[in-house]
Amino acid sequence: MDSPVIGRFAPSPSGRMHLGNVLCALLAWLSARQQGGQYLLRIEDLDTMRCPRAFAEQILDDLDWLGLNWDGEVPYQSERTEIYEHYEKILREKQLLYPCFCSRAALHAASAPHLSDGRVLYAGTCRDLTAAQAAEMRRTRAPATRLRVPDEEIAFVDGVFGAYRENLAKECGDFIIRRSDGVFAYQLAVVVDDALGGVTEVVRGSDLISSTPRQIWLHRLFGFAPPKFIHIPLLCDHDGRRLSKRDDDLDLGLLRTRFTPEQVVGALACAAGLTDRAEPVAARELVPDFSWSKISTEDLYLPDVFRM
Ligand code: GLU
Repeated sequence: MDSPVIGRFAPSPSGRMHLGNVLCALLAWLSARQQGGQYLLRIEDLDTMRCPRAFAEQILDDLDWLGLNWDGEVPYQSERTEIYEHYEKILREKQLLYPCFCSRAALHAASAPHLSDGRVLYAGTCRDLTAAQAAEMRRTRAPATRLRVPDEEIAFVDGVFGAYRENLAKECGDFIIRRSDGVFAYQLAVVVDDALGGVTEVVRGSDLISSTPRQIWLHRLFGFAPPKFIHIPLLCDHDGRRLSKRDDDLDLGLLRTRFTPEQVVGALACAAGLTDRAEPVAARELVPDFSWSKISTEDLYLPDVFRM
């Protein structure tokens, strides 16, 4: 028998949800529910300065308003530092971690190798520091913690975008798993939490597809079975710009004063290709006919009803 599907939505509460976040929450929910599975909610508030509790509570309220119910307790990453430290220790014992003292300016200097997608390849500056050199540098600067990556291609088949591969050494470089201020990096926390939550299906925006090889590598290092990854196209406004939390004109705070949940869900379902017309519909009514085959890889456009 197939193991039960466990999906999840893992927002970072650095602001009110925008329609792109709602689309992600909706598709992850539809997929899980259509397969008779569970839907977990996790608050990714590692950066507590940027993610106040009030925003997280607002997300719970917004999901409730949208009719997207979740199963079980809601973990907050800001409360899970000891768990992440346990997994950091496993990597340390494998001798895969080292302190990195590079400043942000040094990492992004013009001489740093830039990749085609705008990311910077870590040049390995601190990779081979001796213990004595590192101790000396610690006197003036707190280091971030980097994970050594292999010169190896990590491949997976995305549920929407198909085959995807990346050579971690050549296309990413050793990456940070803990910042210099002690805050754990998204890449480590997301892997630990998805695995400990039993998540079998990760649905999220295509802007995160390039993180996936790093996450698969971490799953392997910890001996976890990676979940299935499904990246969804991003929602663009009428000028073709991708929505972001900075475009606060379209967040749910405003939308909830002007639309019903059924209007929001109906318009997004139509934009995503799940329905032919942008008529109001409750999320649960979309469950029986939901299929990933209806979702394309093209960026999606904001439905006209949201033109304000
Ligand atoms: N917390 C991330 C965000 O809100 C999503 C992470 C994920 O789904 O893996 O963009």
